[in-house]
Amino acid sequence: MTDATHTQLTLKYRPMAFADVIGQEHVVRTLKNAIASNHVANAYLFIGPRGIGKTTLSRIFAKALNCLHEENPGEIEPCAHCRNCEDIAAGRSIDVIELDAASHNKVEDVKPIIEDIQFKPTASKYKIFIIDECHMLSNAAWNSLLKTLEEPPPFVKFVFATTEGDKVLATIVSRCQRFDLRRILTKDIVSRLKYICGKEGIDAEDDALLAIARGAEGGMRDALSSLDQLISFKGSKITEEDALGVFGLVSRTSLENLASAILKGDDAGILEAIDAFDSAGKNMRRVSAELLSHFRNLVVLKALGPKSKSLEATEEQIAVLQAQAQGVDAGRIFKICDLLAQTEDKLRYVLSVRTTLEMSLLRAGRIASTATIEELMRAVRELKAAAPAPQAPARDSAPVPPPPPAASDAHRKEILDDPVVNSIIDAVPGASLSDIREKRK
Ligand SMILES: [Zn+2]
Repeated sequence: MTDATHTQLTLKYRPMAFADVIGQEHVVRTLKNAIASNHVANAYLFIGPRGIGKTTLSRIFAKALNCLHEENPGEIEPCAHCRNCEDIAAGRSIDVIELDAASHNKVEDVKPIIEDIQFKPTASKYKIFIIDECHMLSNAAWNSLLKTLEEPPPFVKFVFATTEGDKVLATIVSRCQRFDLRRILTKDIVSRLKYICGKEGIDAEDDALLAIARGAEGGMRDALSSLDQLISFKGSKITEEDALGVFGLVSRTSLENLASAILKGDDAGILEAIDAFDSAGKNMRRVSAELLSHFRNLVVLKALGPKSKSLEATEEQIAVLQAQAQGVDAGRIFKICDLLAQTEDKLRYVLSVRTTLEMSLLRAGRIASTATIEELMRAVRELKAAAPAPQAPARDSAPVPPPPPAASDAHRKEILDDPVVNSIIDAVPGASLSDIREKRK
């Protein structure tokens, strides 16, 4: 309930060593190798969204460089117990200087650093400057740092962190070893939350943890503070309902049901789902974003299979995705994904968010369930070739029948030029196969 409770988990489970860092294996590996081979660069630049551990990683790196390694000489991980490790963790090390450029971005703020650089570290191997939100530094401040950055004394290391890599001057970037930190995968956040709940004796439903991870959008810090918040509201038992209520998210199953309705072209199902979300006060932009990531998963599943690392889903979600992907053409899912991406963009500035979403999802349903021009052509060809017409293939998401022998170009042109084909295509752009047969009668 209090702030103290609120920050508890984020502090308690803050990674203390490289091994605790989640989702940034590519960076951790390179940093450890650099230390092991004694090839530590003068300056590092960590770029990535907020809450994914840039500052934490900077401190672990600083600890690893300055750890006294009293117990295990030759070890790369910081010991966490020596004087240096403890001082860095507590933010009181005189050899590790942190500057938050969001609030200290002027030349005067950088001056003490520049003056300090010539003095050797007092109690450690390196003097390390960690500059957070470095894109906020003024040009004058950067210029005064530039010379030092070019040729720092051998005992000086810089670690810059920023959420906006594009705003860092090219002259600076070129003098740093640059690392792009990733958003943490939802499933990795879920498993970390599960671990923490186990340790803390919290009984949380799997879907509750999934909801927290979805709400955190790749940031572990946000996920932990959300969990903290829920624990202070609900105590040691947390349901999906609790988590959804706090973050205004929709449940996993209702989102999956909406996706199914779209794939079936079920207009009523789509409209009812949106109505239910709206009545429950859910954020429509959020629904749209989550639906997009659901369909993105379907695209990935179709292209790379259920074991793909690019799938942003838990085991339970993958099972549902597999069922939904069956019998649906990959091209259609891709088109829906494309439409949803445009919708998400559009929802940022329209006033009638609900209506816009409704129309887009109905259109997505059409994409899933109506015939493409290719299929229309094939059907017309069939109709032309055989009278009476063969048994109509089922509409909706049923598999498309195997293509007839390929038409020659001349034949294709003939079909395209056919006034009947053209009139049907013109008149009913979203026509289904049965519609066309109807028209042909
Ligand atoms: Zn240590």
